Amino acid sequence: RTRFPPEPNGYLHIGHAKSICLNFGLARDYGGACHLRFDDTNPEKEEQEYVDAIVDAVRWLGFDWGRDEYFASDYFDFMYEAAQSLIRSGHAYVDSQSAEEMRANRGTLTEPGKDSPCRGRSVDENLDLFRRMEAGEFADGAHVLRAKIDMASPNINLRDPALYRIKHATHHRAGDKWNVYPMYTFAHPIEDALERITHSICTLEFEDQRPFYDWLLERLAEDGLLARPLPQQIEFARLNLSYVVLSKRKLIQLVQERHVDGWDDPRLPTLVGARRRGYTPEGFRAFAERIGVSKADSWIDYGVLEECMRDDLNARAERRIAVLDPLKLVIDNYPEGQEEECLAPNHPQQPELGRRGVPFSRELWIEREDFTETPPKGYFRLFPGNSVRLRYGFVVKCIGCEKDPAGHVTAVHCEYFPDSKSGTPGADAYKVKGNIHWVSAKHAYRAEVRLYDRLFKAPNPGAGGRDYLEDLNPDSKTLITACLEPALKEARPEARFQFERHGYFVADRVDSKTGAPVFNRTVTLKDSWAKAG
Ligand code: ATP
Ligand code: MG
Repeated sequence: RTRFPPEPNGYLHIGHAKSICLNFGLARDYGGACHLRFDDTNPEKEEQEYVDAIVDAVRWLGFDWGRDEYFASDYFDFMYEAAQSLIRSGHAYVDSQSAEEMRANRGTLTEPGKDSPCRGRSVDENLDLFRRMEAGEFADGAHVLRAKIDMASPNINLRDPALYRIKHATHHRAGDKWNVYPMYTFAHPIEDALERITHSICTLEFEDQRPFYDWLLERLAEDGLLARPLPQQIEFARLNLSYVVLSKRKLIQLVQERHVDGWDDPRLPTLVGARRRGYTPEGFRAFAERIGVSKADSWIDYGVLEECMRDDLNARAERRIAVLDPLKLVIDNYPEGQEEECLAPNHPQQPELGRRGVPFSRELWIEREDFTETPPKGYFRLFPGNSVRLRYGFVVKCIGCEKDPAGHVTAVHCEYFPDSKSGTPGADAYKVKGNIHWVSAKHAYRAEVRLYDRLFKAPNPGAGGRDYLEDLNPDSKTLITACLEPALKEARPEARFQFERHGYFVADRVDSKTGAPVFNRTVTLKDSWAKAG
């Protein structure tokens, strides 16, 4: 029995996806169960909006927790009882030192701490003070309930850690019922034990907390409040991903200072952002498998995640044709007003996905980079005198171009060979080296396409003491108006495609209208960062 225990104080990100896949994946592989638990012990930062977003994100990743959805705040009564039980068994006391005194007396890594003058308080005095803390008689910070363990312990986490603090705050679920709130380190083991979690999997920074985790559960089991067997905490290395920041503080700053367009900006590593970007749940699950789980901190290159998305999309995404940087191509010997259909396969490896018709006519859009007047060596696309195949259509021979007064090419002229149409018996007689894509100008669907790229241009944003914002990639978002084949007009939100020769794209789930989708680039066909990095 495992659990995924987010604090509902922010949006989930790619790092959380690793934890989700690990916890839910283990439960699935071993016939167990995984709980979704909202660790909402801190009243000030938590909101329903985040709870809803977390539910959506975990479901979207493909996991199901049945009825096992819990809120730490539902255990506040139990936790309050547990605290009193620890007082009664001599394992907790109310400390009235100021925050500064407590810090000064905690000691350091090399020096032991000093006992608080309040450490000797009687059980009755502690119980009375703790109840009055709860009743709202004292100001925030006036007293703290602490575990009584060992101020000389080499592990600072065992030097009488705080269990409860006074906080006159309204909780998003418990309302104004409480004037004291449990510390995370006290609450978390109890939540695990009450839910009969067997493996409490967390990130490495909690390793030093494990002795307290065990100490607390042992005491409460001795007091008869918890049943054995008790859960055990197991740590693993968190995900560190290059070219990305995952810290909540930085993500909030990126959103609030408008370096990105909100929490679901397709460039953010949030799961809502990744979803809008066109990343897939299958890709995330494959990524989690590929990077594995270990105890050693390490960095994963962002390219690994992109490769997982490419692999998944390559297998599943239907192919479509899009001209992103349009240049007019006129076929001088094709009759004006005439049009016909060419057949294009929806997926080269999956004939069962069928073919679709793409209209062909006298004027087409081609990519600007598919024509040049002065071809470099090895350039097989259009230049005067050269022939290429218009993919799924005819072979054409370039006969010249038009230019504006500044010398800028405005149109290319060709002649076509009527017996060269793909799929007809004559087609094989034409041997050409170039094969370019096109969209009929008259039929093109002109749409906004967002060419997203990595948000940061440095593998480790902010390394070497730099402000991480200086590493923002100024070219992470480019808006263009592209000429798309007409079938794309019907794309529904979140439909994913490979635009041939360009990469994978998704119909944006927020800005697309029926019959008027806009597209986001998910990932290019090849990793253009591998060399740069
Ligand atoms: P905070 O600093 O607010 O605690 P957090 O990112 O740890 O932020 P939580 O809501 O506590 O947020 O995280 C829920 C779970 O996700 C925790 O169990 C945590 O260990 C795990 N988690 C968070 N970040 C990562 C990461 N980068 N890699 C793997 N797991 C992570
Ligand atoms: Mg955390």
